[in-house]
Order: sequence, then C-alpha cells, then structure tokens
Amino acid sequence: MLPGLLLTIQALTIGSLTARAGEKASGYIDIPAGVDSATRVPISILRGRQPGPTLALVAGTHGSEVAPIIALQRVRQTLDAANDLRGTLILVHVANMPSFVHRTIYRNPWDQKNLNRVYPGKPNGTVTERIAHAITTQIIDKADYLVDMHAGDGNESLRPYTYWSDLRVDKRVDSLAKLMALAWGNDHIIVDTGRPKDPAASVYTTNTANLRGKPAITTEVGYLGVPDEEMIERNYRSVLRLMRHLEMLPGPKEYVEHPVWIDRNEVLTSPESGTWHALVQRGQTVQKGTPLGRVTDYFGNEIAVVRSPMTGVVLYIVGTPAITKGEPLGMVGHLLEER
Ligand SMILES: [Zn+2]
Repeated sequence: MLPGLLLTIQALTIGSLTARAGEKASGYIDIPAGVDSATRVPISILRGRQPGPTLALVAGTHGSEVAPIIALQRVRQTLDAANDLRGTLILVHVANMPSFVHRTIYRNPWDQKNLNRVYPGKPNGTVTERIAHAITTQIIDKADYLVDMHAGDGNESLRPYTYWSDLRVDKRVDSLAKLMALAWGNDHIIVDTGRPKDPAASVYTTNTANLRGKPAITTEVGYLGVPDEEMIERNYRSVLRLMRHLEMLPGPKEYVEHPVWIDRNEVLTSPESGTWHALVQRGQTVQKGTPLGRVTDYFGNEIAVVRSPMTGVVLYIVGTPAITKGEPLGMVGHLLEER
C-alpha cells in the first residue's frame, strides 16, 4: 500500500476553493499586496471518492514554459474525479502569473527574482517570495507527492529530461522519488546530489517538498516557449503514467526500461554580450571541444566560440539570438557509464 492514504474523504479547501469527494473545483490562491502588488495563482483540486494519495502538479514556475501549462488544462478537462480518481490531484496551473502574463523568461518581472530560487519563500517578502510561501504552505504542505513541471524557457531549445534528487537526507523520499522519475517516462534522468539540505533555505520547489518528506521530481518537457502539441501530449501522458504508478488511476504501471542516467552536467554561460548563433541541436551528442555556438557582436563579427566541456548530450541550447555576458547558453549532460 502506498503512503499518504486517507482514511476518510473530507472536503479539501485551498485558497478560495473547496472540493468535496468526487468534485472538481477551480479557483485562486490570492497573494495579497505587500511591498509590491497583489497577484493570484490559478489552481484546481480534483478530489476522488476513494481514498488515495494527494499529488500536486505545478506548472508555470517559469511563465514562458508553456507546454506543461496547457497539459494541465487537458488533465483538468479530461479526468473524471467522481469515477476514476483515487485520492486527490492538486493542479497549480500557473505558479508565476506575472511572468506568464508578461511572457518573461527566468524571472518575475516585478521583482526580477526567479521563483525556483527563493523557496520556501517569505510571507512579507517581494511578490516572488510571497508566491513561494503560498505554494509551500498551501500546496506542498497538503501534498504527499509533487512534480514541478518545467520546459525549455522562451529562449531554450530543450530535449526532455527529469531531475531526480538523490538527497540522502531520507532514503524513503529518495527511493520513492526515483520511482516517480521512472514512471514519468523521460528516459534522460539527471542524478542531482547537490541540492541544499536545510528546509529553511530549500531554494527550489522540488527540494522544498523533498525536505518536508514529500517525494518530488522536476521535469523538463517542451521548448522555446511554444505550445508544441507533441510536448503537451508528452506532459499529459506522463501525468497519467505517474497517477497509475501511485494507484490514483486504474491501469497498468509503466516505467522507463532503459534510463539514461546523467551523473554530471554543466550549464555554460556566455563569455560576452552580443548575438548568439547556436551550432548544435537539442539532444545532439557532442564531444569534448565540439563548438556549441558562436557569439558575435551586434555587427556580426565573431567575438567568442563556446565549446562543450565534456562528451555528452545537449540537454538544451539557447535558440534565440540575444545573449548577455554571464547568462546561460546551454547545458550538456554527461552520461553515467554502465556499471
Ligand atoms: Zn523552468
């Protein structure tokens, strides 16, 4: 039997909405004004009639990572809470509304903070910190499992992969999260051992959940800020796979049969400001020294060539021209050798 089983199915209230057994409810968590303006977080609760775990799915931590956002709308539309569902599904449709509305990459446009760097948040902080605090206390604290669903941001041409934290604080959490990663379905899985271990400075959404005893993974499916149908459908099918693994939906359990474990990775940053010209595609295999792209000045004169620091796979490469010194250009993952 899976952990997190509820014995009685009472109504669940989050923010302005309440879902009783068998109900699907949508509404908002209000983030009141503080040192800056108010915002709100659109969420849905799907409450089954039968007991089971509570799974939280978070989209839109970065507002231009849209394939997961559209996929969660599809999940809400197609799942039958009254008949099919065991347990509870909490959908955070767009965690970072200012970023979504203003189509920004990386950061909330109001305070220029990255929502996936400020957890567990602060009730009296700037807007990004207040959103993080609300998600920590109203979503993570009420969930048994969590997936933070990312994609390539508006500038990132990305091939699908998953982050699994081998945190080594709680073996149960690590092993359950590993199974979640295999159930989700991305065959490229980064083994991340470097996340902070202090719950009061957990920094990342997923790390906040893991450190609170709720197994969680971060997924990356989609690219360049577009709602590509194949990527939307991949996210959607992964949600259903994970729910079957957690026995929230009936049907056969499926796991990645031949995972490609990535034991280390490097985010490359631009040595100069200028114009970026990528020379590789997402998912491409590269050797140590393979040119990943060129930086030119605004007139087209080459000022730098960026090469891969290792043999591996291009997990993402920036696919749009604007580049600033110190900003990410791409990420290369090194494949764990067969042991
Ligand atoms: Zn992201």
